[in-house]
Amino acid sequence: VSGFVYEALPMRVRFGVGERHRLRDEVDELGISRVLVLTTPSRGALTEEVTAGLGSAAAGVFDRARMHVPVQTVSDARAVADRLGADGYVAVGGGSTTGLAKAIARESGAPVVVIPTTYSGSEMTPIWGTTADGRKTTGRDRRALPRSVVYDPELTVSLPVSLTVASGFNAIAHAVEGLYAPDASPIPSLMAEEGIRFLVGSLPRIAEGPEGLDARADALRGAWLCGSVLGAVTMSLHHKLCHVLGGTFNLSHAETHTVVLPYVLQFNAQAVPATLAALRRATGFDDPAAGLRALSIRLGAPRSLAELGLASSDLDRAVELAGENSYANPRQASSSDIRDVLERALVGTDL
Ligand code: NAD
Repeated sequence: VSGFVYEALPMRVRFGVGERHRLRDEVDELGISRVLVLTTPSRGALTEEVTAGLGSAAAGVFDRARMHVPVQTVSDARAVADRLGADGYVAVGGGSTTGLAKAIARESGAPVVVIPTTYSGSEMTPIWGTTADGRKTTGRDRRALPRSVVYDPELTVSLPVSLTVASGFNAIAHAVEGLYAPDASPIPSLMAEEGIRFLVGSLPRIAEGPEGLDARADALRGAWLCGSVLGAVTMSLHHKLCHVLGGTFNLSHAETHTVVLPYVLQFNAQAVPATLAALRRATGFDDPAAGLRALSIRLGAPRSLAELGLASSDLDRAVELAGENSYANPRQASSSDIRDVLERALVGTDL
């Protein structure tokens, strides 16, 4: 019996259809008197609704959240907050908006409430990331952790099926790597298996009827669980590869996770029998790597990294960067192993 260390993160979650209408309670509970709402330009109508719901506590809106959190955006948002006298933030959107809020919280210590509209899971983690001069820096810091998260499935209904599938697989990837993490322990593993079960069960239902709230609620519940796993344990080769492909080659984040995951899982498979057993229970797939890939393709996800814009001439640099820093992985991966995984994902080899 191997021992473990598990540290629970302080996290308040409000979950349910229509719960966004209780946002003011959440903000009051945290003692925030003036809120700056963070979002992206495309979320205009929702932002108006949120701002109206905050009533007199709404100080203003900063709608310039961008992918990979440029440091300039962080200082711009903080300057707006200072000008408006805001003492807390509400982030409404996907992982990019949440990432901005977390970077601000890390710097300033200000309280943050997140209302997620994708399945990225970032809202459940103390992992922050910012970009300066084309380089992305990431780390873990408790100060970045949101104080409260409001999950309202109605807000995910507008997420197009293609983004839903990719974002759902992004969440599944957190859980898969959580199951074989070097610091895996019973509670994150329970959350991982259950989170995958919810997502694999709900994504096909969403593809058939994107407006069905039951399926949307199941997917969001899965995203919450998978995000909690990401926040609790160390990720391995898969997340390292996706970080390199997104950060250096600008490949779209969630879709990159969707394409790469089955290949890394297949590479690790023989070293992680307990993970495979958990995945078989959660998915019903006898071969989880092949099953996950087939499911993503059936739901319309991209088949290869080439489709996402990676060129074969990028492979040398990608392999070099992926091997640059040490990372955990249940099976030792040499440079040629990494190249092999990336080559297969590049062309979308059948599993
Ligand atoms: P995103 O936040 O970039 O959103 C993608 C697009 O979808 C945007 O144009 C957004 O406006 C739109 N959108 C979001 N919700 C919508 C909705 N309900 N309806 C219609 N459109 C909607 O994408 P993402 O995949 O959620 O986040 C990716 C980012 O999050 C990456 O930068 C990644 O590194 C980061 N991330 C961080 C962590 C962490 O723990 N730090 C975890 C996962 C992802």
